[in-house]
Amino acid sequence: MKDRPVQREAGQPKTFIPVYRPDLSGNERRYVLECLDSTWISSNGAFVGRFEAEFSRALEIAHAITVTNGTVALHLALHGLGIGPGDEVIVPTFSYISCVNTIAQTGAKPVFVESRLSDWLMDPDDVSRKVSGRTKAIMAVHLYGAVCDMSALKKIAAQKGLLIIEDCAEVLGATLAGRQVGTFGDVACFSFYGNKTVTTGEGGMVATQNAELAARLRLLKNQGQDSNRRYWHTEFGFNYRMTNICAAIGLAQIERLPAIVARKRAIADLYRALLSGSPVTCQKPNAGVASSEWLFSVLLPEGAARDRVAAYLAANGVETRPVFHCAHHMPMYRTGESFPTAEAIAERGISLPSFPGLNDADVELIAGLLKASLRQ
Ligand SMILES: *Cc1c(COP(=O)(O)O)cnc(C)c1O
Repeated sequence: MKDRPVQREAGQPKTFIPVYRPDLSGNERRYVLECLDSTWISSNGAFVGRFEAEFSRALEIAHAITVTNGTVALHLALHGLGIGPGDEVIVPTFSYISCVNTIAQTGAKPVFVESRLSDWLMDPDDVSRKVSGRTKAIMAVHLYGAVCDMSALKKIAAQKGLLIIEDCAEVLGATLAGRQVGTFGDVACFSFYGNKTVTTGEGGMVATQNAELAARLRLLKNQGQDSNRRYWHTEFGFNYRMTNICAAIGLAQIERLPAIVARKRAIADLYRALLSGSPVTCQKPNAGVASSEWLFSVLLPEGAARDRVAAYLAANGVETRPVFHCAHHMPMYRTGESFPTAEAIAERGISLPSFPGLNDADVELIAGLLKASLRQ
């Protein structure tokens, strides 16, 4: 039989640019092979401690505790701080669902707040309004690379005696007043999912300056087992342990954190230059914030059909993502409240490909397609 030429379907693009693709070009392969060759693949392996130490050093945080993913990092932090039934935790409605789910998982009540149109993050004025006698903590969710107004949030927390949990899943590498994120609150949670700035496939970290809390989190993530007495459990706990294979990948990734963040910042700068003068609005981080530029995201002009813009880019081989939906619109969290700014961001936001392997020509192509889609 003769080979027939492959027929491309009409309209099928030649190129495909995903929203994210991890860069695993450093020591990842070598370290993973070390795990396999040594047979140390569980959480009992040297890479776990090495990854934690290197992460602590890179972020200048005293204690870093690996966990299975970013969601359980949040749950471990909340539970470790003693948050549970009868308590309230303030959280932006425009955030990733695991922020809200993990509060509910402890038995506490998530109390939603409005976002700011400038940086898309929780509005401290609304936080002040929502504090009640039951409020125990504020979950400061830093999104798309920008960092919450921590001085305003810390002031409220100090006045009202509240704890602050930072969700740093999207801001690894960001700084506030020249300091790495993760030390502004009582505890900080990170995610190493496949599209995060540092990835282990699935993975997470809880970090804190508080030695006593760190010891408690280590106990809780390991079934509440006494560190000196095997199978003796002093407290209700969980298995949230990271494997040595994930930690091996994480160590290789964190070794290259400055290079990865530098490339992502250059990509975002190029997008901003190419899109200036177009009708889209970029996220505008608060004063003193150097964004991690996790996923470069913009607000489309009011009235633009986001689905149509996404379909146009997809037809030309470029994947995009809508931003998160508001939690107060989800069936299990419907409150009947209205948050006009958060709702507008959720309706109009779109994320563009933002991985370190993109070249400048890719960015030019994507920005050009976005502008063309808005002229359609
Ligand atoms: C990714 C992410 C998480 C959850 O992390 P997983 O590792 O996917 O469980 C939590 N919060 C925010 C803001 C995130 O972006």
